[in-house]
Amino acid sequence: IVNAEIVNAEIIAVGSELLTPFRQDTNSLHITEKLNQLGIAVDFKTVVGDSLSNLVSAAHVAFSRADIVVFMGGLGPTEDDLTREAVAEALDLEMNRDPDICEWLRRRFASRGFPMAENNLRQADVIRGAEALKNPRGTAPGQFLQAQFAGNNKIVMLLPGPPHEILPMFDEQCMERLRKIVPAHYMAKRELRVAMIGESEVDRRAAPIYKPHAGVQTTILAHGGEVQLHLQAQAESQEEAQKQVDLLASQLEDEFEDSIFSAQGESLEQIAGYYLQMRGASLAVAESCTGGMLAQRVTSVSGSSRYFLGGAVVYDNAIKTLLAGVPPLMIREHGAVSRQVAAALAEGIRERCKASLGIGITGVAGPTGGTEEKPVGLVFHALADGIKTDVVERRFPGDRERIRYWATTQALDMLRRKLM
Ligand code: AMP
Ligand code: MG
Repeated sequence: IVNAEIVNAEIIAVGSELLTPFRQDTNSLHITEKLNQLGIAVDFKTVVGDSLSNLVSAAHVAFSRADIVVFMGGLGPTEDDLTREAVAEALDLEMNRDPDICEWLRRRFASRGFPMAENNLRQADVIRGAEALKNPRGTAPGQFLQAQFAGNNKIVMLLPGPPHEILPMFDEQCMERLRKIVPAHYMAKRELRVAMIGESEVDRRAAPIYKPHAGVQTTILAHGGEVQLHLQAQAESQEEAQKQVDLLASQLEDEFEDSIFSAQGESLEQIAGYYLQMRGASLAVAESCTGGMLAQRVTSVSGSSRYFLGGAVVYDNAIKTLLAGVPPLMIREHGAVSRQVAAALAEGIRERCKASLGIGITGVAGPTGGTEEKPVGLVFHALADGIKTDVVERRFPGDRERIRYWATTQALDMLRRKLM
């Protein structure tokens, strides 16, 4: 790669098993992270089975659209390991059997007392111009190659499939080679998270803010009542890349204000926990329709014992009374799913656990049990501090799991806003 243009990469995972429901390409996650550290964006990932013609066609496509192409897998000794042949064919290069690698393979088998099947020597076939990469953890060496495709310079890597072989090989042998060839580019990332605003609404408000920042790549992801805004910029210095993402992040923070709960990718439960600890507050919860999911999320954060006291799963009405002191008459009068019962749960559990804050959740998770007056998805969330109890009523869309998860997100968001 001679020019100072921003460099892009394609990762090709090779293996028919990766096209079944039972195996997944995970190697590319690590390799993407490492390439990003060099300022190299991964623009494409391809998964292709062990077929020579499909591999050649995938290689052609990759060489025509990416500066760096990383092949993973298909370097073993067996008939279906075809990556070497396919890459040599796509680049129109010969392969030569490397005597040093043959010797290394023979000795490796001998030292373990195994006879070596002849087909193992295929692993010594090196594409013309490629450097062999040592593989102390397996038998297939990798290959690192600078080649021409349609008049353009390409960097090509052929790496073994097993994670314990490829990951150290990439870190120890590919990274230094890439650093020497690829012009220094730097990548900066920011991740903002917004709670309890829909994805399309976030997009509507964010799009005009993104627009003037053509150099920053933006991605919106929605999950469980939160929307994540991923920002990524590349530049010739780390400071410049950081400046670009920080500027856009600060403009988004002005737009979404306190709806943004996290400016560095922290989870809502981490942020709520951070505020609880900072304020010296403690929390207890009484959960009906979420069945302990809120407690689960709160306690997923290491160190949560400093602020989370505990709580109760109060599914049955009698248990709402027994463990959180909800008056039976209140339940009869307003129903278990009601503003009043949510507040009583929060207040009752707060008192019984001697916590500074109590949360109560009650709702209809569905898909059965909804009525005209109390439809599926209706959830009441209450937060009590001993002086005042806030109740938020929401009607969540989606299936049972989604409704339950959104309810916990809503409760955590109330907690965060109270403590902010
Ligand atoms: P291979 O180098 O094609 O013989 O692959 C050997 C083994 O490595 C496969 O059976 C998988 O278990 C594993 N493997 C191959 N490719 C990947 C990948 N992209 N991600 C994770 N594991 C992989
Ligand atoms: Mg394979």
